Amino acid sequence: MSDWDALNEFLRTDPRDIGCDLALDALPAYSEMAAAAGHPERLFPGLAAHLKSCRACFRDYEALVRAIREFGGDEPR
Ligand SMILES: [Zn+2]
Repeated sequence: MSDWDALNEFLRTDPRDIGCDLALDALPAYSEMAAAAGHPERLFPGLAAHLKSCRACFRDYEALVRAIREFGGDEPR
């Protein structure tokens, strides 16, 4: 990533964006709500903002939703 790309990324960042660390903590709950056709973005607007700007977390989110829909919300034992 060039300096210009990094700057551009920074300038486009939503101020509500909570960042990767907090996003990963809240992602399981967010994904369960999304898989249950809830509206997690109302409860976690900072995480919704983060998922719009972070491709890595968005991929994790998609994978989690898919897994929850396929296997149910319980943690595998
Ligand atoms: Zn992230």
